[in-house]
Amino acid sequence: MQPKPGSERTSSFTSPGVYNALQGEPLTPAADSFFDNHNAVDDPNALPSSAEIENISESQVSNTVTAPMTTETFPAAGMAVAYAATLDEQMMQEGLNDPYYPFGSEEEYNFAELVTLKGIPANVIDTMLKSNCGLDKGICASLKSNYHLRQKIDRMEDGLGHRSWKKSTLPMTWNEQHPDRIVFWHRDLTACAKWILRQPAYREHLVYGPVRSFNTEGKRIYDEMHTGDWWWDTQVLRHIQVPRPQLTVRVKSSLPVGDTVVPIIFMSDATHLTNFCGDKKAWPVYMTIGNLSAKARMQHTMHGVLLLALLPIPVKMREVPAKIRNAQREHNRSVVQNVLKHVMQDLLASGSKEQRHGQDFYTFCADGQVRHCHPILAAWMADYPEHCNLHNIKSGVCYWCECPQKEMGDMPRVEDRYPPRDHTLYRRLWEHGDVTELKGRSVNSGGNVLWYLKGVTIGDLPKPDLLHTMQIGMLKHLLGWLQCFLKQHKRLELFNNIWLSVPAYLDMSRPKCAYEEVSQWNGGEIKTMTRYLLGVTRNALRNPTAGERAAFESALECTRALVEFYMYCQYNSHDEDTLNLMEDALRHFHDTKDVFLQFRAGKRIAAEARERRTELCKERDAEMKANFMKSAAYRQRIQDTWKVTIETEMAEYIEEGADFNFPKIHLMLHFREQIQQFGSMRQWSTEIGESSHKYQIKDGFNSSNKTGDYYSQMINFYLRCDAFSVRRANREALSKVKKASESPVAVPVGGTTSGPAERNCRLKFISPQLQKGRQRVRDFQGLLGTITNEATRERLKNATLRFLGSRGIRIELEELQRCTAAIYHGLEVKTSNMHGEEASQRLRCTGEKGWYSGGARHDWIWVQIAKKRDGQDLPYKALQGRLPYRMLNLFKLLVKHPRAREWCTSGDSLRETFWLAYVELTKPANGGMPEKASRLVRVVKPTTGAVDAVISAGNILGAAHLIPEEPDCSRSENKGWIVNSHIDLATWNDIYYMYEDELEAIVRNEK
Ligand SMILES: [Zn+2]
Repeated sequence: MQPKPGSERTSSFTSPGVYNALQGEPLTPAADSFFDNHNAVDDPNALPSSAEIENISESQVSNTVTAPMTTETFPAAGMAVAYAATLDEQMMQEGLNDPYYPFGSEEEYNFAELVTLKGIPANVIDTMLKSNCGLDKGICASLKSNYHLRQKIDRMEDGLGHRSWKKSTLPMTWNEQHPDRIVFWHRDLTACAKWILRQPAYREHLVYGPVRSFNTEGKRIYDEMHTGDWWWDTQVLRHIQVPRPQLTVRVKSSLPVGDTVVPIIFMSDATHLTNFCGDKKAWPVYMTIGNLSAKARMQHTMHGVLLLALLPIPVKMREVPAKIRNAQREHNRSVVQNVLKHVMQDLLASGSKEQRHGQDFYTFCADGQVRHCHPILAAWMADYPEHCNLHNIKSGVCYWCECPQKEMGDMPRVEDRYPPRDHTLYRRLWEHGDVTELKGRSVNSGGNVLWYLKGVTIGDLPKPDLLHTMQIGMLKHLLGWLQCFLKQHKRLELFNNIWLSVPAYLDMSRPKCAYEEVSQWNGGEIKTMTRYLLGVTRNALRNPTAGERAAFESALECTRALVEFYMYCQYNSHDEDTLNLMEDALRHFHDTKDVFLQFRAGKRIAAEARERRTELCKERDAEMKANFMKSAAYRQRIQDTWKVTIETEMAEYIEEGADFNFPKIHLMLHFREQIQQFGSMRQWSTEIGESSHKYQIKDGFNSSNKTGDYYSQMINFYLRCDAFSVRRANREALSKVKKASESPVAVPVGGTTSGPAERNCRLKFISPQLQKGRQRVRDFQGLLGTITNEATRERLKNATLRFLGSRGIRIELEELQRCTAAIYHGLEVKTSNMHGEEASQRLRCTGEKGWYSGGARHDWIWVQIAKKRDGQDLPYKALQGRLPYRMLNLFKLLVKHPRAREWCTSGDSLRETFWLAYVELTKPANGGMPEKASRLVRVVKPTTGAVDAVISAGNILGAAHLIPEEPDCSRSENKGWIVNSHIDLATWNDIYYMYEDELEAIVRNEK
């Protein structure tokens, strides 16, 4: 905030006397606000105003999805049949609207919430309540003990409550060693679905019918589940069986007019609880509904995912004959099938032939309407082995289609692909006992409870799973191949060193160890790593010899294709264009993957190859022995010929035995159709299950006594936590609605408060530490004092004078040193992400101070160099008129000069505030043209002219990420960097994208 004329508060921190003596005129005092820790940047010196920057990006090509323009809603879907009181209205009527029910007071409620959510052990709570330890007397009086407290909590029905759980017993046992009947816990599925539909917290997040959205060009957009084809088709179509075998016909016949589809989503994942107290496991099944938005489903704090059942853990047989083990496995499967039959009861077909879907029901929804709902199992999220088990198919094949295993590594055209799995057919084949036919389709014989689901295409249940297929699947494979490739070409050490030199970026910290040093990589780590993998690989493979060039380029292109395919997978919203780009990336990967084929050879092939090598070596030795009388040169020639023979034969042998026929590489082929059917992929990643495990299973287990029936203790623990969290979420939602209804008149734009201007500013200087204490910087001289290096001080002085000179301000060095100045450690930049949502970036520039026990941080920034003029292209090709610079210092300067805008009454002179950044300059190599194989842009240190500059902070656009060509440990000066355009989706979309054909033309010209 700038001080306004007339309202200025004078400060006393400067000592005017000294300055007066030097200057002979009164000093310009600066207001205290000049040194505020947070300073909104109001920089008239910036080159383009932020409005102009927006114009630039508008004219730029982008592979972002443009905002939907038209939406077609399914006629008469999700119609209300009646209006009823909403949950809060009901509560109001029944006088149950007490926010602290069943507790007597707010204090009591807060105490109960705290000890429950923090998992305070029972004995500690007892001690707190029974002995006086500073608690409010009222709390101790009404809550007598832990037991009493728990009883009260159990009366809260905000979650589904205890009554929703059932403990059932199967009339089966595991085997003779485990003679007890099998017991399992489960909940009523319909009750769970109804509960989600009714919660006020989800009012904004619920949809009741499908839509089709189109962008301005009339292209279909896919994001949430209800924008996909599946939901639309489900409203219209139903599957009917015709008596001819091998055929299911879709017949147009809509659901009854106005009915609501409730897509049920299951997630299951067996998990280890502990290895210490005996091998304890849990096998939870979670459920949620597709009516709830992906955002609400994915955030565990929204509680949209409910624990539906805890399946019994099958017994394992070790050290028994294979025959017995297989029989036990078969029996285990039938037990699980029986349990699932109970769990999914409401979705299975009952006797009535008319029934098209699961058992339909009427229910209250959060918006106060009553709807007639059809629950349909739409998705089952699980990892690959669980799917194989569930669908009863052989391991190593695709669960979506009948592609044979030996063709898994190919990418055929869409029309040449194999038909989807038809479980109706499998059921019929099994009923007729046609085991050979089933085997031919890689299906195990045996019944399947899924066959009895109504209105469900079973082959559609699995969803693309980014965690298992990409992160710890394909991307991990790619890393493994790259490691072997780099080792083979003796570039591994360089790769590791560059890897360790990758700078931090916003939320991403510096890599701490090389890939091979980590024994186990988890999904999140691999996700982070793909953000800089391509740049590091490019730098490690630069300057190849003529012989290496072709292989290096293929390796780079293959890496780029897979990384970019994964980036497209992470889009929250797709249209036909982005789907085509995604498919292109996948095809490019398949076209170039052969460079890694030799690393796909299995252990068997590798062992055989070693054997063959030994044989060949023996032959060579025999020949050498036979020629031992010949000259040394002749013998050397024999030796050389053999060397070449052995190496070629080994390479051929290994490549012949290697293939890419494994399931994960094939599953990627189906991603496109899955997006079109069920919406964007991130919502289907099993990563969501991880947090559910933690909050619904593991926390409960850890606070149980870990013996006996720990399942029931886990359930109780979660129910109590859930009651509090759900009440909180619902209260917050209700108070929002209340507030909105209380102030229906919109606040006029440009209100009287000065707040909004500050809030809406794009840039903000922040200084957490520097403005305090004795070392506080007050003038330019003090700012120079924070720099220890003499040469750097000189350069900063000169650069500042150059900057002022460029603004027509000529002042002497002495005068500059006396100018009021403030130093900052960070910069907050408001940007928008690729979907146009506002995002905030915090850039660090810590001067010489360390950052979290590491070295000083000098982040890379994007700086706008040129602005768009009519009919002119922006310079620097892919960089679109922007360049990455490194921030060395951030500061603010108050300068007096005759043409300044600001009038200072007390000093009787004119002055101007400058928001400045001292930066290290770069310039684009090859004019900003991306390199051929990696499609990355290289920037270099300027060889002529200045290498540093002081720039107006208003030109800073946001964070950049650059990967150095020389690793830090090499100690040689780094002269080149690769601009990492893959660091995040926004960077990739906003700054780098070029017309593919334009790029192709340039690549052709190069050849
Ligand atoms: Zn397939």
